[in-house]
Amino acid sequence: MNALPEIELRSALEARGISRRQFVKFCSTMVATLALPPRYLHAVVKALDQTTRPVLVWLEFQDCAGNSESMLRSGYPSVGDFVLELLSWEYHELIMAGAGKRAEETLERVMRDHKGEYIAVIEGSIPMAEDGVHCTIGGKTALDIATRVCSNAAINIAVGACAWDGGIVRASPNPTGAVGLAEAVPGIKNLVNLGGCPHNPANTAAVLVHYLTFHDLPALDQYHRPLFAYGDIIHDQCERRAHYDAGRYVEEWGDEGHRKGWCLYKMGCKGPEATYNCPTVRWNEGTSWPVKAGHGCIACASPRFWDTKSPFYDRLPKVPGFGVDVLAEEIGWGGTAAVGIAMLAQVAGNIVRDKTRAKNVRAEENPPPDLNAGGSA
Ligand code: SF4
Ligand code: SF4
Repeated sequence: MNALPEIELRSALEARGISRRQFVKFCSTMVATLALPPRYLHAVVKALDQTTRPVLVWLEFQDCAGNSESMLRSGYPSVGDFVLELLSWEYHELIMAGAGKRAEETLERVMRDHKGEYIAVIEGSIPMAEDGVHCTIGGKTALDIATRVCSNAAINIAVGACAWDGGIVRASPNPTGAVGLAEAVPGIKNLVNLGGCPHNPANTAAVLVHYLTFHDLPALDQYHRPLFAYGDIIHDQCERRAHYDAGRYVEEWGDEGHRKGWCLYKMGCKGPEATYNCPTVRWNEGTSWPVKAGHGCIACASPRFWDTKSPFYDRLPKVPGFGVDVLAEEIGWGGTAAVGIAMLAQVAGNIVRDKTRAKNVRAEENPPPDLNAGGSA
């Protein structure tokens, strides 16, 4: 991939056919995604107007390329279009024209000429078993490449569940000893984890916009995840929540409740135990998200979700919001009494919601036990 000339973002967007109106709309979306007050729009527009695009290298290790696809495949002009122009993409195995030795020379050149300045995006897990031999590129292990590239980057962004904590590759029995970037390269600096399967490109773009505007990372949680994206429980943002509070559940796929958009808790929805801004940012240019489309959340942005949240169609054993000792089937709603009970339950649910939320967040604060004892470094 040839180096792009250093040109301002505005010129690059114009060359791509993106109008001023579309650019400002994108900035406005980013301000909303970052949960910033609207008055920051001016600062974002001004900063991006004046930015010369930083260099980006995108590494892929043990992955399905789903995070690259999520970034690149959307409508026009998409978040992907803007991100393609926000940065000078120097190395990305999926889309670069160069291959083999020439591609590797490009990576070396970026590390040499842009040391401490480039942005590194990592996709996929890193195998630690058998000295990392399960994933090698150009004769080097993923661990060697990640250690070198990430140690010299200005910021490192791990996109998707696999890069964050090993994802499906790490799921039991984890034959390759796969781990996420932070475990593979301990002490890595300026790390942002964007878990999810895949990551939501709107969040990745928002992190980049925040960095280009304020020259700093957004506020992060204990997992190095941005709070604007991972600070709220899905259940608390869900448009089916009113049905949950009223005890209206889908009992089987395609039943009346399913057709009417009732709560998917009994179909295995993990929304009460998951944090992410999926319900507000949504997917496909903000048109929908899985729960709106009729499928329960499988908590893809939760720690080690393949092991800790499966079987995905089994209901959670407790019912947050009604008291943790109450099982879903114990909540009976019948006839006219249901109205009054529902109102009482609604009030009770609201009262305990904050406590429940704090409990759920605390649950996420405790990393899950290593389910693959001895399987990873
Ligand atoms: S259980 Fe799932 S579908 Fe029901 S309100 Fe919570 S997040 Fe929405
Ligand atoms: S609904 Fe849940 S599982 Fe589905 S993408 Fe959103 S956070 Fe991930």
